[in-house]
Amino acid sequence: MCASSAEDRYKDFFPDESREYLQKTFKSFEDDVVLEVYTEKGPHDEFNKFALNVCRAFAALTDKVEVREYSLSDEMARKREIITSPTILISPNRYDIRFLGAPSGEEGRALVEGMALASKGAEGLSETTTSLLSRIDDQREIRVFASPSCPYCPGQVINAFKAAIGNPAHVSAWCVSTQENEEMAEEYLVGSVPHTSINDIVAFVGLEPEEKFMAQLVYLKSLDEILEETGVFEDQEHEEGDAEEVDLVIIGAGPAGMSAGIYAARSGMSAVLLEKQGVGGQVALTPKVENYPGFSEVGGLQLADILSAHARIYTEIKQFVEVRDLRYGDRIEVETDSVVYRAKGVLLATGVNVRLLNVPGENRFYGQGVSYCATCDGNFYRNKKVYVVGGGNTALTDALFLRSLDAEVKIIHRRDELRAEKALQEATDKEGIEVIWNSEVLEILGETGVRGVKIRNNIDGSETELEADGVFVAIGHVANTELAEKLGVELREDGFIKVDQSQRTSVPRVYAAGDITGGVRQIVTAIGQGSVAALTAFEDFSRMKV
Ligand code: NAP
Repeated sequence: MCASSAEDRYKDFFPDESREYLQKTFKSFEDDVVLEVYTEKGPHDEFNKFALNVCRAFAALTDKVEVREYSLSDEMARKREIITSPTILISPNRYDIRFLGAPSGEEGRALVEGMALASKGAEGLSETTTSLLSRIDDQREIRVFASPSCPYCPGQVINAFKAAIGNPAHVSAWCVSTQENEEMAEEYLVGSVPHTSINDIVAFVGLEPEEKFMAQLVYLKSLDEILEETGVFEDQEHEEGDAEEVDLVIIGAGPAGMSAGIYAARSGMSAVLLEKQGVGGQVALTPKVENYPGFSEVGGLQLADILSAHARIYTEIKQFVEVRDLRYGDRIEVETDSVVYRAKGVLLATGVNVRLLNVPGENRFYGQGVSYCATCDGNFYRNKKVYVVGGGNTALTDALFLRSLDAEVKIIHRRDELRAEKALQEATDKEGIEVIWNSEVLEILGETGVRGVKIRNNIDGSETELEADGVFVAIGHVANTELAEKLGVELREDGFIKVDQSQRTSVPRVYAAGDITGGVRQIVTAIGQGSVAALTAFEDFSRMKV
């Protein structure tokens, strides 16, 4: 009997949509990529197995990826200074790019993007990044702590990997999965992901625009200090020839943008979808979705993947690409780090940002007990005492998710009635999640991290201090209108973009769809608006002379 081939053994490892996406990505590889996988038998066996299988499944899909497997006791492990199992190295003879842990969920996305970058080398980097990185002439060790369910993490990991590729002699970039590397996460005081440490000197939480990340890496200082001292963010002119003509540029790959991508291409327009983070928008942050017709229950990330796989059939999604500037004219110029798109029209689907409580302690303890993303950071609060602030759908969904992780969770709400839908209210009741009614957070207390919250009762004015390990803020969102404002788009009083029934904004050939337009802000409405916006654009462009 002959042994089955690797292709056969791993052919069903990835779901169909992911396999197609991977095959397309691998096809675009320029150089071959070597993955070295280091494992050691022990408590991480499940993770080891997953890491090995993912890498083997990549290699079964393409001959551009070669996998070499080692044990931690091998000479090679000593040579590479491997400290934990599993560890994956990407093209280690050229770069020090490591993945500590099993690359599942969002971390898997980061690994694939990292491989793609490694295959392109420095040519895949923007001029600004290359020029900033060339200033580094001593060692930089970047550690980005991530989790499988954090949609912001791949972007930050990619920033780090780009740095290691742009200056391999001086920069090492490690993505550390917090799940398998708890001790290391504790040592680095990680309370929120992505958490980045550079040379143990600079540490920050969250996804950063690429240039800012690179500047902090170069100067080993916070952004504010750098801005005071230098002019590193002066706009760089693009070289002639890096402009691309396209009918519609869609900015934001949440449900609205992805739906627009499908409709735009099917109408016959050329379109490109630009996303500065991972795909999915707010959906990717939602642990569980139960009201998207056709799916009685689906994970937020899973739904984001299903939508993006569908959108990719029609339109290219450029992830981790930030729009730097927009210029209005006969063609609207959309400037990114590497390309200027000259488009007939632009669809703004840039969504929302979290609303802050604006109380003492909130900023100070962000990443040390204060979080805005339960799916990203929930894991740190197993069996711990946490409060969720807010009374809407997000607050209740987050509370239920934290409860499912065995956190001791209570909700703090400023009124005596929840805004969240009935089904979620019933679910929180059933889980016995207590609501502290009529209460506002006055302060988040602590020394080095959160140890409590001070609240005031709105009825009798009494103030109470509650012990807490973590505070999840879920008090709604503010519209992400920075780009809209550059184009002079009219906003509503509540800050969302004003649109007509056809998703036209006040500026001709500029459309908006999804959460950025306010209203009920549901996945299903965002998808509807995205499709309407694309069809309207098609109608408008058909009437244009050129
Ligand atoms: P939201 O519906 O705007 O609710 C925000 C909550 O925070 C409200 O309860 C509000 O209190 C409270 N709040 C606002 N500012 C506050 C402050 N400064 N201090 C204390 N509390 C404050 O926001 P969301 O829950 O993030 O939902 C946003 C949108 O996404 C909604 O349209 C929602 O339906 C949708 N969404 C849907 C689902 C789902 O369908 N499963 C899940 C998540 C989100 P008041 O009630 O007193 O105003």
